[in-house]
Amino acid sequence: MKFGFDIDDTLINLREHAFHLYNKKLNQNVPIEVFQSLNRVEIHEPFGLSDEEGKHMWNRSLEEIYYTSCPPFPDALETLQQLDKQGHEIFYITSRPAEHGERTKEWMKQTGFPVVDERFFYGMKDHEKVEIIKQLNLDYYFDDKPDVLNTLLNESVKVIIKDQSYNRHIDLPRMVHWKEFKNIIK
Ligand SMILES: [Mg+2]
Repeated sequence: MKFGFDIDDTLINLREHAFHLYNKKLNQNVPIEVFQSLNRVEIHEPFGLSDEEGKHMWNRSLEEIYYTSCPPFPDALETLQQLDKQGHEIFYITSRPAEHGERTKEWMKQTGFPVVDERFFYGMKDHEKVEIIKQLNLDYYFDDKPDVLNTLLNESVKVIIKDQSYNRHIDLPRMVHWKEFKNIIK
C-alpha cells in the first residue's frame, strides 16, 4: 500500500519541542499544560507575544526548532520502519519551506525514518498538498492540520487525523497514539 505522512506534529513532536525552546530563549516557565490546551497551531500567545511577534520568533528560531533534538512521537519511528520492511511505499509531504527541504530530508534519515529520495515532497502551501496527494494515489494520508485535512475530504484517499489540541473539532478517524496505527489501518 501507499502511505503518506505529514512530518511536523504528525510524526514528530515539533510544537512541543519549540515550546520548550521558547521557555528557554524567553527566560519564562510557561507550564506544559498551557501548551496542551492551546486551541490554535501557533504557540506564541502564552508567552505574551502578538501574532506579528510570534511570527518573527518562529522564523528566528527555525534553525533550532527544525534541526536540534525534536523527538518523534512514541512508536512513530518503529511504525514506519515496520511498514518499510513489509514493502509498503512511504511518502512524506511537508509544507516546510523549500529552502529547508533537503536538510529536513537528511535530518529525517539521520533520525531513522525510512526515506526514499523520490518520495519526499516539500515547499508547498498547506492547501497545495491535496494536488500532490491526488497524483500519488495514496491509500492513506496522515496529518494534524485542519487547513490540510479540510482540502482532502472529497478525495478517495483515507485520511487519518493525528490528534492535537487544535484539531478536536474535526470529525475524521483519529489517532491519538501511534500504537493505534495497526487497528486504524485494519
Ligand atoms: Mg503538521
